[in-house]
Amino acid sequence: MNRGFIFTLSIGCLATSLGLAAQQREGDPTLTEVWEPEPPVVVPGEGTAPPSDAIVLFDGSDLSHWRQVDGSGAKWRVENGAFTVAAGSGNIETRDGFGDVQLHIEWRTPAVVKGEGQGRGNSGVFLQKRYEVQVLDSHDNRTYSNGQAASIYKQHIPLVNASRGPGEWQVYDIVFRAPRFTADGALQSPAYLTVFHNGVLVQNHVELTGPTEYIGTPVYQAHPPKLPLELQDHGNPVSFRNIWIREL
Ligand code: MG
Repeated sequence: MNRGFIFTLSIGCLATSLGLAAQQREGDPTLTEVWEPEPPVVVPGEGTAPPSDAIVLFDGSDLSHWRQVDGSGAKWRVENGAFTVAAGSGNIETRDGFGDVQLHIEWRTPAVVKGEGQGRGNSGVFLQKRYEVQVLDSHDNRTYSNGQAASIYKQHIPLVNASRGPGEWQVYDIVFRAPRFTADGALQSPAYLTVFHNGVLVQNHVELTGPTEYIGTPVYQAHPPKLPLELQDHGNPVSFRNIWIREL
């Protein structure tokens, strides 16, 4: 390319951008309007009811969307529009797998307070069977901060303690971005979590360093892009209700 051509091209580009800038200065608001794509219509739920495009994982009636992690039928007890951990039966998981999601889940620790620290109202919401948002009675119950309610267990302390008392229903609204892996199994991008606890932001797009580990440092291992949501049997009769999820 000769210099003359480059000069002409540069002047041309400059003229175009000056022209556009002039148009914007003169106030043509259509220049910054974007019409496509048009977001699909979703009918929001009343209160905490699921919006029209949500997959309802528990509506109060049965555990048809769930199974024990060994694949057998879910053994947790359904009663009065909620279900409760059947201690010793093991964790349950959804029959379907999910990737990036918005999740709404309500939970309640026992009204009768028993135990302390990690032993009081412990359960957990595991995204993709690996990444735990801790469920715990953290009302006047000190434990390690990265293990209290709304912590990303052993990775992120919640910004505040927005817990309600034992026996009261509490809400998590969770936004999860699944990790990505390359074809040869290397980590391409980590998982991220945003959590609202009873409407209060407690985890603000935090980066996960790997799957939840009780002992030691987490290390990512490649896994399928969609995996079940899992709830933890930690031996305490924690209840759940109104669970719905939106695939993103
Ligand atoms: Mg737990």
